[in-house]
Amino acid sequence: MIDLLTANNISKVDCSSIWRECLKSIKENVTLMTYNTWFLPIKPLQIENSVLKVQLPSQFFWEWIDEHYNTLINRTIKEIIGSEARLTYIISNETEPPDTTPSTTITQNETALTKIKENTKKEFQSFLNPRYTFENFIKGEGNQLARAAASAISDNPGGTSFNPLFVYGGVGLGKTHLIQAIGNKILKNFPEKRVIYLSTDIFTVEFVEAIQSNKANEFTSFYKSMDVLIIDDIQFLIGKEKTQDSFFHIFNTLHQSRKQIIFSSDKPPKDLKGLDERLISRFQWGLTADIQPPDLETRIAILKRKSDDYGMTVSNEILDYIANNITSNIRELEGCLIKLLANASLNSKVIDLELAKKTVKEIATDRKVNISIESITKCVCEYFKIEENKLREKTRKKEIVLARQIAMFLSKEMTKSSLKTIGLHFGGRDHSTVIHACSSIELQKRTDESIKNIILSLTSIIEIKCS
Ligand code: ADP
Ligand code: MG
Repeated sequence: MIDLLTANNISKVDCSSIWRECLKSIKENVTLMTYNTWFLPIKPLQIENSVLKVQLPSQFFWEWIDEHYNTLINRTIKEIIGSEARLTYIISNETEPPDTTPSTTITQNETALTKIKENTKKEFQSFLNPRYTFENFIKGEGNQLARAAASAISDNPGGTSFNPLFVYGGVGLGKTHLIQAIGNKILKNFPEKRVIYLSTDIFTVEFVEAIQSNKANEFTSFYKSMDVLIIDDIQFLIGKEKTQDSFFHIFNTLHQSRKQIIFSSDKPPKDLKGLDERLISRFQWGLTADIQPPDLETRIAILKRKSDDYGMTVSNEILDYIANNITSNIRELEGCLIKLLANASLNSKVIDLELAKKTVKEIATDRKVNISIESITKCVCEYFKIEENKLREKTRKKEIVLARQIAMFLSKEMTKSSLKTIGLHFGGRDHSTVIHACSSIELQKRTDESIKNIILSLTSIIEIKCS
């Protein structure tokens, strides 16, 4: 117990230093993750007659703490403040505490609060890339709705009808950029908000690890404690039932407490075949907005802006040429400029139309080169949860045959490999087997909705993983 804390002068003592003492003791009794998640965000407001009043970010937060750390908290405050000590709380998302602090202690309080805020920020990672902002996201017809909704959310997270926001569109069209821009802007507007961005892949891996180490509860409660949850490429949740289930509960808790949820996907919710219907319907509760490939005007604007950013001098004729020849992917537009810059400086050439033509051609070749039979095989096997060598073996088990035929089909569609090479990769089969596989899948794609969806999903998985 701190000496100066007697019943009479306790109200005048800086409640922040008392809480700091409590935190020190708590830190020794819990894991760092628990400490960061549940204790650092607690803000001391006031102490009066041995009653310590604190501010918590949400009701859920309180319930979790009360259920799991009640004994620890009570023991700690009794140790520090005295046997009469009690804790009361208020729920608030306000950055500054309500004006209930005794006036004599305001200055000290503010300093201590700032310290706590800094700690919270430092130890809590949002995983946002600061490069993705609204300022450098070029407006165009194709992204108008998504951008407008994103911007409204940044000013009022959880408070608009766009909850969840579901952004979908093809590869390289700016989904990741836009959803991260929301996160960055929210943190700028409301530095105290708990914003987290992560890809569905990472979410899944973390979930599996949490289960293996018996920490599934800690995992879900961590995400339930967020103010803003941003999840990229949610289509990768397909086929992962347990993760979907855990995600479902996280979604409900956050949505009920009006926390903002943001998703991206390569297709609209209704086309996410194989995803829990309950999730699909929840994804549609807020706003679903697509991002379409940029029109010519937007492509030129993007190229202009990026070439300025890179400090390049490129004539309008060249920008026009690139914009007319790279049409469906903004990442490729960007890649083309960088390549052009590299080609020019490596060969000490000026950036002229001839060099631009050569570079555009290279981009088209790269598109095919990145995707290999190996990477296709890997994605297909992960998708069907089978070992890669099974595709090379002679087995005629139904599901293996299907996976093998799909992998052959995609290898023919997505790489420049010859039928012979493809056959060799799949256990030395000859080219007629590959032809048979391809036509069989082609036919099934037309007659069987589920095969069509598998092919669509796999195509986008492969494109994303190889880009
Ligand atoms: P997606 O997630 O849809 O595959 P990304 O968000 O990764 O696409 O975008 C690919 C690249 O293109 C990124 O470097 C991004 O900054 C850029 N980009 C996409 N859309 C725009 C835009 N409207 N304005 C400026 N840059 C953009
Ligand atoms: Mg992305």
